[in-house]
Order: sequence, then C-alpha cells, then structure tokens
Amino acid sequence: VTFYGQPEHSVITTCAYCGVGCGFKAEMKGNTVVRMTPWKDGKANEGHSCVKGRFAWGYATHQDRITTPMIRASIHEPWQEVSWEVALTHAASEIKRIQAKYGRDSVGGITSSRCTNEEAYLVQKLVRAAFGTNNVDTCARVCHSPTGYGLGQTFGTSAGTQTFKSVEHADVIVVIGANPSDAHPVFASRMKKRLRQGAKLVVIDPRKIDLVASPHVKAQHHLPLKPGTNVAVITAMAHVVVTEGLVNQAYVAERCDDKSFQQWCDFVARPENSPEAFEADTGVPAAELRAAARLYAQGPNSAIYYGLGVTEHSQGSTMVMGIANLAMACGMVGREGVGVNPLRGQNNVQGSCDMGSFPHELPGYRHISDTTTRSLFEQAWGVTLNPEPGLRIPNMFEAALDGEFKALYCQGEDIVQSDPNTQHVAEALSQMECIIVQDIFLNETAKYAHVFLPGSSFLEKDGTFTNAERRISRVRQVMPPMARYADWETTVKLSEALGYPMHYTHPEQVMAEIAALTPSFAGVNYAKIDRLGSVQWPCNDDTDEAGTPTMHIDRFVRGKGKFYPTQYLASSEKVTRRFPLLLTTGRILSQYNVGAQTRRTANNAWHSEDLLELHPHDAQERGVKDGDWVGIESRAGRTVLRALVSERMQPGVVYTTFHFPESGANVITTDASDWATNCPEYKVTAVQVVAVAQP
Ligand code: SF4
Repeated sequence: VTFYGQPEHSVITTCAYCGVGCGFKAEMKGNTVVRMTPWKDGKANEGHSCVKGRFAWGYATHQDRITTPMIRASIHEPWQEVSWEVALTHAASEIKRIQAKYGRDSVGGITSSRCTNEEAYLVQKLVRAAFGTNNVDTCARVCHSPTGYGLGQTFGTSAGTQTFKSVEHADVIVVIGANPSDAHPVFASRMKKRLRQGAKLVVIDPRKIDLVASPHVKAQHHLPLKPGTNVAVITAMAHVVVTEGLVNQAYVAERCDDKSFQQWCDFVARPENSPEAFEADTGVPAAELRAAARLYAQGPNSAIYYGLGVTEHSQGSTMVMGIANLAMACGMVGREGVGVNPLRGQNNVQGSCDMGSFPHELPGYRHISDTTTRSLFEQAWGVTLNPEPGLRIPNMFEAALDGEFKALYCQGEDIVQSDPNTQHVAEALSQMECIIVQDIFLNETAKYAHVFLPGSSFLEKDGTFTNAERRISRVRQVMPPMARYADWETTVKLSEALGYPMHYTHPEQVMAEIAALTPSFAGVNYAKIDRLGSVQWPCNDDTDEAGTPTMHIDRFVRGKGKFYPTQYLASSEKVTRRFPLLLTTGRILSQYNVGAQTRRTANNAWHSEDLLELHPHDAQERGVKDGDWVGIESRAGRTVLRALVSERMQPGVVYTTFHFPESGANVITTDASDWATNCPEYKVTAVQVVAVAQP
C-alpha cells in the first residue's frame, strides 16, 4: 500500500472502467492523486463504488507507461524513440503513401470505448474527412453492436430505455447473459436492494451466477440454458405469452405496428416454438421456462437487463430483437420499473457508438447514405463524404489478407488480445504496411505496429463519457498529460499533419460541434453538465433540461414498435467426440477486460490468473482436481489454464475469464460472428479439456 499523503483539493470526474459510470472525487495533492472517493451526488452511483473504480487507478502513472513516440521501418526492427513532430509526420506520410499506391479505401481507423466521446468523434471525423473513407469502426463491434442493430430495428434507437434508478420500481427483474455482481457491481447493489424488498428474479444464464443464490438474494427461476440457445429460450417465452393470453393487447394496439405483431404472433405460436419443443436443445425444463414467462408477463412492472451473454453470439442481433419483442408484447417499455437495458461493459461503449464510430453511421445513428445528414456534415467539415458504408473490423482483417487494406490507426484498443481467433488477427495485421497504435501501454497490437503514439489516461484529459443509461458525465483533467498530448490532441495533430487542420483548443469545442450536428445531443454542453452533474440523451429543446430518463414513453423513436420473428438457428459450433464441451466466457470483479489496467494495480493480488471452471462431473471424468493444469483445445487453437472445479457450472459447459494475455482465451475462440453485425461469437466454443503437466 502506498501512502500518498493528505489531499489538498479534489476534482469531480467519472470512473474509466465499466458502463455504470460512477462519479468520483479525485482527491489530489499537487498533481498527484491521493485517493479516489465515490461522489455522493453522482446520479449513477449515489456515493457507492467498487474495487475497480475506488482502488485500481494506479495504472495511470505505472512505470510501464510509454511517454515518448516511437517508429520503426518494420515489425522485425527495434523501436526508435522520436519527437512527436517526427512521429506524426511519419504517420501522415505513410497514410498518404499507402493511399496513393493502394487507393483511398486501403486505410482505416478504430475508435475506443475507453476514450471520451470527443475523442471518438474526432477519430471518426479524421477517418472520414482526412483519410476520405468510411473505414471506421469501434471496439463495440466485438461487444454490443447487436444491441445497436436489434434495438434500432424494433424501437428505433440503440440505447437502454431506463435510468439505473428505475430498477427501484421493478416488480420482476430478468437478467439475461449478464453477471452484474462482477461486471457492474454498483448497479448490482441497487438491483439486490430491490430484490431484498421483494422483487422477483429470473436469471437466464448457463452458470449459477452470484444472483442465482447468494446470501441475501435468490432467483425464483434460473434457466440454465446451454450456450448458443438464447434465441430458442426467448422465442419459447414469447410462445407462452402469446398462447396463454398474456399479451398486453391495449399496449400493443396503441403502441406497436399491427402487421408485424400479427406475423410475430403467428410465428411464435407454432408448436415447434414451444418450451417443450426446445427443451432438448436448450436444456431448460419447459415447466420452469413457462413459469418464468408468466412471471415476466404479469409484472406488473418487469425489467430486462442483459449483457454480452446475449450479444456475443452468431444470433446476437436476433436475440436482442427477441427481448424487445417480448417487452413490447407485455407492455414493458415506456415507464419506470420496466424496459430493456443493455449493461455496457466498458465506460464509454454507449458514447463511442453514439459518436458515429460505425462504418455505416454518422453521429446520432444516422445512415451515411442519408443525403440530408451527409450534406450537414459535409458543410460543417468542408469535405465530400462517401455515401457507401466502409469496412467493419473483421472486414478490415479480411481485406488485409486479400492485400487490399494496408494501414490502420488504432486508438486505445488492443485488437490482438480482444478480438477472436488471435492467430487470424495477427496474420491480417502482419500483411499491413503501416499500423499506428495510440495507447498508454505497449500492448499486444503494438507488436505489429510501425508507429506508436503515447496515449493518455482519464486523469490526463477533459471530455465526457456516456454510461449505460445514456448519462453524459464529465471527465476532468487532474494532471498534465504524461506524454505531452491528451488523446484528442494527438488526433488533431495527426489530422493537421495530413493536411486537414482541425481548429480545436479544448474538448468543449468538440462537444459544441457534436451538439450542433446531432439532434439528440443539441442540448448538451459542458456548462449544463457542470451545473446539473450529468444529462441523459436525448437532450434538446423537446426534452427536460437534464434530458430523458425514460425513453419511448408515448411513442417509440421509430413511431410504432416493430416486431421481428426470431427463428432459432443452432450455433455452427457443435460438440463432437473430439470437442465434447462448450466453453463460454465472462468477467470477474477485480479485473477488467484484457487486464491492461487492473493487472498493473493491487487488484491483481485478488485474482492473478484466468481459471477454467468446470463441473465436478466433467472434472472427475478427466481426472482433474481443483488447481490442476488443464489443456483446452478448440478447432481454432489450444491454451493451458488451471482448473477450478465448481458446482456453478452445468455438466458439459466450461467457463473462463479473459483478463490475462498469457492465458490466451481468444486463441481458442472461433471467428464465427453475428449475422447482422459481425459481433464475434465468444460465448460458444466447442472444446476438449485434458489434464496436463504444469507448463
Ligand atoms: Fe467504476 Fe463500474 Fe465500479 Fe462504478 S461499478 S466504480 S463505474 S467499475
């Protein structure tokens, strides 16, 4: 434990870990953070915090920070430290050289959900206006892109419908493919408080997560589905609602599109969509599923919260639409205590998506082919924009392997470690001629990079993050950037080096531009956020001053809510005699994502390796005991972990976290992906597990 001394002043800022977006007071002595104290007026956390936000901020000044730009001619040569001017000029000339040789669309960029809204906006502007291509994507591609698609299709916009506080009015809470106790701890506490007051709980998850049975909370129904069968479960729940007369007819008649509703009813009512028909595939007892569906439909207020166990599947978008269908049919959207709520894993997943980081959308989820929107941005930016969508991240890899994609600007995202099928990603990156990595640490992706631009932590910059409830909160600089520039400044400098100067001197000006060009952000400005603490988009002249706590109150954003049939298709990952188990993945409380931050803090002492959880039956069959080393082999690759024998698992299903690069969780995940968005199917991998000697 380091003693930093007594604080002299404090600065209110926002946690840079998960999508709860807790407010913190950074208590300072000079330019040094003494401690982080949860902010009692923070609307997302009301004075609460977890072990990540409270204690794991020391990575920001860790000795591994890279503070000098570096370049090299090839990835086989050592890095050379250079000045910012040399690094930026070199990066810009490489982009220009490659575009001159291979064409305008041979380059692209990736924005980060770790960075601020303003930084994500600037990266997509750089790619579209300075590079002249729509080849921009966000790391949300690999987590919540199906939320964007599914909620966009059904409700008309890609966002959670409620505030976190809304859970205090829920009578029934349904948690699907999420483990809030580990991944969203402060919200989990709020949820548990409501459960202790008597709200009922349904958990749909292959594992017995903490919420299923903890000392103070017990789920009325746990549906322990087999990985990959989400769509069958949600369709079977819809079957129960429709065939047992549980539809909220008045709500549907007033709020929803009648034709699509009738088609959906006809579809889900078919006998092949009943809980009994799906029992063998899902492993969920039909009677339990029927009881859970009745509980949800009868509410009176039922709220759904879901996570990556919904989205990271080949049918991720179908499942999101299935959830939205069910909520609309039961009249569970548009007031407090109900709703459909994606729990965002990273601090600014919502924001990076809002800011136009997708190759087909400009800020505010407006399609690039829309002439009116495009001309608005063309006028503001002084360029002509391509009306055709660009490449998604996996398409960039494919194009690189085809020799057509040659340069990538990657800000705050370690694609080698976080994207599926690591070998495939590495092979694609090896084919590129210029990879520019901007990060605070020399990450795994930097092994394939030619230019390294030092990044900045959340303590070194101003800006905003948007949490899972659409709440926009300020990030405030508490210390000067360790490497001279905050991330937003680096993007501005790179743009200038490319001959497209951006004239910003502070992120507040960037937010003013976002507000001027994006109707749902029209009322967002720093002065208002400073005064109110935070605002929730949509925030404009049509909403309250602080924005919109509950969405779709009188009408859905798209007008009438639209239903989509959800045909269940079994995952292509089949268990066989060679690969008889299904691997699924998740998070643990003390660590965060690929561990780049938490592993460099005292949190590492609590959980310092990824483990393979397996059921006692599967362990016994393989002669594996708790703590033994096991080899895990899939069709994509092989890795070695220590075993954790646990009754939390069901037989036939194994589980691991993905916080340690040396564990190589993504060496074994496949590159199957969601049909609509290419979000990887991390949650279903057929594997074999065998006892091995210590590696
Ligand atoms: Fe940070 Fe999330 Fe923990 Fe809050 S719950 S302190 S936002 S990691």
